Amino acid sequence: MEFEIWWLLAFPLFFALGWLAARIDIRQVVTESRTVPNSYFRGLNFLLNEQPDKALDAFLEVVKLDPETIDLHFTLGALFRKRGELDRAIRMHENLLERESLAEEDRLKALVELGQDYLKAGLLDRSEEVFTRLLETPFAGQARRYLLEIYVQEKDWRQAIQAASELDRQSARPMNAEIAHFHCELAALDMVKGEQALAQQHLDEALAIHRQCTRANIMLGDLLAGLGRHEAALATWRQIEAQSPAHMVLVVDRMLENFKKLNRLQEGLDWLKGLLTRHPSLDMFNTLYHAVMEAQGADAAYQLARDELRRNPSLHALERLAEAELITAPENRREVIQNAKSLIQRHVQRLTRYHCASCGFKASQFFWRCPACGRWDSFDPARHEE
Ligand SMILES: [Zn+2]
Repeated sequence: MEFEIWWLLAFPLFFALGWLAARIDIRQVVTESRTVPNSYFRGLNFLLNEQPDKALDAFLEVVKLDPETIDLHFTLGALFRKRGELDRAIRMHENLLERESLAEEDRLKALVELGQDYLKAGLLDRSEEVFTRLLETPFAGQARRYLLEIYVQEKDWRQAIQAASELDRQSARPMNAEIAHFHCELAALDMVKGEQALAQQHLDEALAIHRQCTRANIMLGDLLAGLGRHEAALATWRQIEAQSPAHMVLVVDRMLENFKKLNRLQEGLDWLKGLLTRHPSLDMFNTLYHAVMEAQGADAAYQLARDELRRNPSLHALERLAEAELITAPENRREVIQNAKSLIQRHVQRLTRYHCASCGFKASQFFWRCPACGRWDSFDPARHEE
């Protein structure tokens, strides 16, 4: 290709066009920004600097100056809710809904927000009413998730099963583990009422929808043991090891009880020793230790604690060792051992807690559903020394 002299003229032309385009852009930005009140930028600035109180004041000023700023209403409402100022959040969203000029999509969005305000304020009936209205709209998926949360809080397990099944069908997230829990909750209610057959039906349903549901097997074992069918109860509880070995810790106590009722305690102790070798656990060791202490005396319990301390060193095992030693120790050594034991005990109590893997909530008791974040199966059944 040959160079032609007119190409030289093209360069200044491109520069001129670029300059013109930039001017037009800047003018547009300046004109637009003049229509936005200064308080808006001040608010944004406060928000970016993590000063939500000052941001809120600045934004409230904008809303007063220009009531048509719908997006800002949404932002402020959500901010109020996050800060726990639920009265103000509710008023903000109710005001929006009263506007006759509000577009249909914004009206539905305001309803979703208002439903959340009511839910957080504990006004479950009102929240349920709002989200039920949204079921026939494009916001149905979101509404159903909140409805599920409401049914769980109300302990309305049948409605919860229905809502979760619908969500399971319509979303990519499987809900079968939660649905199994809802069946277990229904079974628990039936067991309290003495309706064992109905309870068993719910537990079978729980296992049908979620084969790994350890809770259903734990409860099924309880049900059988309550009917005096100790052998069947033991067989049911043993299945938990294949579902989730960590959950065995929740049943070893009652399993030993059932072995005892069948006059086969020794077999139970040997089985538990085997289980502990396969899956070391603080609490399972504890159960074994107390059972050995009761059945075979302090010397056998001391030996057990010493072996455990060698295999899995922990403060917990050390505490048990001190406990067994205290029983067999001569009078003149008892005070020293007692002091050491109390010291270790205070530490152990502080260190061993159940943890929610989802939000980090710590508790001295095991929960199937975290009381802090509401997640199911987020608690590790094993307590750990930190
Ligand atoms: Zn949690």
